[in-house]
Amino acid sequence: MSGGGLVQGRTALVTGAAQGIGLAIARILWEHGAKVVLADRNAGLAAQAAEELAAGERVSSFGCDVTDEEAVAAAVAHAADRFGGLDIMVNNAGITRDATLGKMTLADFEAVVDVHLKGTWLGVRAAAAVMRPAGAGSIINISSLSGKSGNFGQTNYSAAKAGIIGLTKAAAKELAARGVRVNAVQPGLIRTAMTAAMPPDVFAAREADIPMKRAGEPHEVAGAVLFLASDLSSYMTGAVLEVGGGRLM
Ligand code: NAP
Repeated sequence: MSGGGLVQGRTALVTGAAQGIGLAIARILWEHGAKVVLADRNAGLAAQAAEELAAGERVSSFGCDVTDEEAVAAAVAHAADRFGGLDIMVNNAGITRDATLGKMTLADFEAVVDVHLKGTWLGVRAAAAVMRPAGAGSIINISSLSGKSGNFGQTNYSAAKAGIIGLTKAAAKELAARGVRVNAVQPGLIRTAMTAAMPPDVFAAREADIPMKRAGEPHEVAGAVLFLASDLSSYMTGAVLEVGGGRLM
């Protein structure tokens, strides 16, 4: 896109961007003119995804485990060095370790809370350190409808995703006067590797519960992120957008 993109010329960093929703977010930001860094804990997959997206044009990749404080700071520094500044930060990386309370281990709980909650907090803090002095920026945190309603077998994931909402609102209040907006997106059931791991009958039952009667596609979450990243949402901060086909409204 030349000249007219919604995020034309801005620098964006997306975590967990090697596949799924993160890759779709990286793609739509790129299509709308942004310079995009795809970060993922698997550096090789991130590099491959970046190559397939744009073969080096306005795109870069970076190996980053979002639970690692130094790695998150390094990813933000990479974006700023490579493309200048940081205008858009998308904290998207995620995992699941589903089990009922009787079977969930402390390690399952800690792993999920670490990636989602600590990882998002580290991303928000590192991005804010660059955006605050610049007096502008948009941070988007990927939560889940599981954090709104609580999902059976997801005490770890629901807790972490609900925590991201509190974090988003607190950070939004701290950063609003500095020109930095912080918002969250709560996807419902989206067709990615994460949900491909669900038993087909469970997936079908979830789909049947959705008023729109289908799972969403990654690009349908990415559209909401593009809106929050762009000036179309210039008066929105601390908001939570649900992208769930009407589920759990
Ligand atoms: P996905 O296809 O599994 O992609 C997630 C990516 O994040 C993977 O490449 C994963 O790498 C990476 N990642 C995991 N832990 C990481 C870490 N510590 N540091 C850096 N990268 C890491 O999942 P998705 O469905 O696109 O999910 C993206 C986000 O949307 C997640 O936050 C998820 O919770 C949220 N979400 C998804 C749905 C859904 O229905 N799919 C619904 C609501 C919310 P590995 O493959 O190595 O783990």
